[in-house]
Amino acid sequence: MALLDVEKNLSTIRDRISDAAIKVGRNPQEVQLIAVTKTVEPEVIEGAIHYGVTDIGENKVQEIIRKYEIIGNKVRYHMIGHLQKNKVKYIIDKVEMIHSLDSYDLAKEIDKRAKKIQKTMKCLLQINVSGEESKYGISPLEVKSLLKEVSELNNMRIMGLMTMAPYTDNPEEVRKYFKDLKQLSLEIDKLGFENIHMNYLSMGMSNDFEVAIEEGANLVRIGSSIFGERNY
Ligand SMILES: *Cc1c(COP(=O)(O)O)cnc(C)c1O
Repeated sequence: MALLDVEKNLSTIRDRISDAAIKVGRNPQEVQLIAVTKTVEPEVIEGAIHYGVTDIGENKVQEIIRKYEIIGNKVRYHMIGHLQKNKVKYIIDKVEMIHSLDSYDLAKEIDKRAKKIQKTMKCLLQINVSGEESKYGISPLEVKSLLKEVSELNNMRIMGLMTMAPYTDNPEEVRKYFKDLKQLSLEIDKLGFENIHMNYLSMGMSNDFEVAIEEGANLVRIGSSIFGERNY
């Protein structure tokens, strides 16, 4: 896709983010755009950075490594895809936040690798709110016991929740899942774990981000509406 289109799309998306926030009386500044750059080439990403993108999302470790080599740290990287334990070491020094924490084993590995480089890794728990089998993430019922275990790790910090709603052409159909995630975050805050605070709700993609913002998202992960349809 031509860079001019990326600039235009970014501007449209920013307007739509603002409108959705204002519609429900929220401050648009609260909502952070994460431009999802999977399959997007580094020179296009550089262009997007030029047009004000500060945060990008990738779902593959290999892609983060490759893009980091070229683009470096002038943008913040978010790991938004399923993360295998044995690959944590490759990205621990490169990413701002891991959105896809989904097991205690993975948490322990992140903690161990973060400790080695004296970092506190920001993480979000990925929740499978819809119960779809094809989706990664833990079930809302498992959350509390996992949080209890994870709260004892010192070099990682759970800062919120992430979810992917089922794909739909009609975002109203998935509003309930965003409501559920928000509700779960309120319940977790009430549990009062010392080092766990629900600062972030990472929810909303190209097809449903406005509804997600209306329900409280403050991190939206948007790819194809900015960079065009992916060929896979
Ligand atoms: C690809 C992806 C997105 C962005 O999806 P679009 O529909 O292209 O906006 C968001 N979150 C995750 C986890 C993804 O893998």
